[in-house]
Amino acid sequence: MKKKVDIHGVLFDKVTMKEAIDSVVQFTKENGVHTVYTPNSEIVMQAKRDTSLMNILNSANLLVADGAGIILASKILKKDLTDKVSGIDLVSNLFPIAKSNNLRFYFLGGAPGTTQLAAVNLLEKYKVIEIAGYHHGYFTEEENDKIIGMINATKANILLVGLGAPKQEKWIEQNKSKLNVKVCIGIGGSFDIISGKTKHAPEAIRKAGFEWLYRLIKQPWRYKRMMDLPRFMMLTIKTRLFKPKYNNKRG
Ligand code: UDP
Repeated sequence: MKKKVDIHGVLFDKVTMKEAIDSVVQFTKENGVHTVYTPNSEIVMQAKRDTSLMNILNSANLLVADGAGIILASKILKKDLTDKVSGIDLVSNLFPIAKSNNLRFYFLGGAPGTTQLAAVNLLEKYKVIEIAGYHHGYFTEEENDKIIGMINATKANILLVGLGAPKQEKWIEQNKSKLNVKVCIGIGGSFDIISGKTKHAPEAIRKAGFEWLYRLIKQPWRYKRMMDLPRFMMLTIKTRLFKPKYNNKRG
């Protein structure tokens, strides 16, 4: 059993990157559809306003912390969530071990052209990787079941869903009973990064915890969404200051 750490009601799994990778590989060997989400501080704030999103996140088979903000909050709240496991880093670590673990991917999401480019880039890089199929993320409600049929027909076992959060988490929840894959992973804008359309923040910036600032400079239209970052930190500080003195057994 993985240890859960509660950050503002969202129950994260305390896992290292290696443990997260092992869990995903293990899920492909088990029955049923498993869900993996990687919320950051913005999504935690959205979940606080949206109970259905909170329930979806907390019912995940694996819930890992995407973002330095969550790890910083864990420190401030004196909890022991120490490892950042972002969606892009998680899938980037799955690609090289895909062949030896029989991982077959289907890519769903991203702009038309981008998803295909992401698939082509990975095929060029890994040669033997199995990308069972791909479809962009701008489809209608009417097209939904046809797309699910296509995904199932490919016999992919890992579905990467890049529709942005919280759309991808809600889509997975609504459709998982119709899917034959073993694992669905919500990966946000990762297809944009894999395709080369968007640049990933340099490692030094990510390590220093300033990915949010990098994204704000590169994608200034995100500023409204990013207002949740200071709200998240204020909530964290308030929670720390007014934390009851008794021992809370959970995380
Ligand atoms: N997207 C999509 N369908 C939609 C809306 C968005 O496929 O209806 C894609 C979009 O092309 C982008 C990703 O979802 O690739 C969202 O990226 P963003 O960086 O905003 O997501 P985050 O990582 O912040 O959740």
